[in-house]
Amino acid sequence: MKIGFIGLGIMGKPMSMNLLKAGHQLVVCDIVRAAVEEVVAAGAVAAATPKEVAEQTELIITMLPNSPEVKQVVLGPNGIVEGARPGCVVADMSSIAPLVSRELAAALGAKGIELLDAPVSGGQPKAIDGTLSVMVGGKPEVFDRCLPVFKAMAASVVRVGDVGAGNVTKLANQVVVALNIAAVSEALVLAAKSGVEPELVYKAIRGGLAGSTVMEAKAPLMMDRKFNPGFRINLHIKDLTNALETAHQVGVPLPLTASVMEIMQALRVDGLGDSDHGALVRHFEKLAQIEVRR
Ligand code: NAD
Repeated sequence: MKIGFIGLGIMGKPMSMNLLKAGHQLVVCDIVRAAVEEVVAAGAVAAATPKEVAEQTELIITMLPNSPEVKQVVLGPNGIVEGARPGCVVADMSSIAPLVSRELAAALGAKGIELLDAPVSGGQPKAIDGTLSVMVGGKPEVFDRCLPVFKAMAASVVRVGDVGAGNVTKLANQVVVALNIAAVSEALVLAAKSGVEPELVYKAIRGGLAGSTVMEAKAPLMMDRKFNPGFRINLHIKDLTNALETAHQVGVPLPLTASVMEIMQALRVDGLGDSDHGALVRHFEKLAQIEVRR
């Protein structure tokens, strides 16, 4: 399939490489020239604008930071909407506000262009080895057409509903991850200040009900003092902002999410916005004046 790929960052670059490996033809675009050159060296063709990408392809994937960038690339000057033909599909795999996905679907739909919102979880390691989880919102027949393409990048692809449902699912995912990291942080700080080895606490509880994928991924990094990203606190703040806004629009208070959001805001003020979200533990350490170490 001839596929467009716009946004070749931490996630988009390895995802596009996996599409090339699967034998697809790619037309790519990013505002960072070095990112484009790397994917072109692997076999893709460069385009100057999203419009040019859309003129040459039947499926256009976007992997951009947040709602404003996706709006700009899809509907802005020289955007996808100016180049795409009726019957084309835009699959936005960025994590953005569900309301914006629905706005984009309406604007594209008026021109006969389909939209899927298809955010991912799994982070850079799973983007590299092609084992992401993709949560997709959109029409079933459009989903079926794009499924083989998603499968070249993912181990799990689930259609969760109509347009917007993919990003609602992603927000639910980000709430669970944020609260889980905070819970692991609080618990390990409790252990450390009580004089019990955090590593032994981790070993003792990881196989029980308290164990989680988050605990497995983050507790060892906290104890090793490794806070390089991974997933940046700034990006998690973006997701929790979208979660709180979306929740309030539909009449759902999120008291625990709001609380972790304020902790992340404090860490950002403290200069840790570009640290991994595992650095949440540093907030609890400061409160208790202790560090969680092996
Ligand atoms: P990133 O900042 O590394 O990549 C974004 C890319 O988009 C950059 O290369 C940037 O130059 C490009 N870009 C921005 N504006 C553009 C424009 N107008 N035209 C063309 N290109 C433009 O971000 P990322 O980590 O790859 O994340 C992308 C999305 O995936 C985000 O929504 C993020 O929340 C989500 N996500 C990230 C991870 C992760 O672990 N990094 C995991 C799951 C989901």
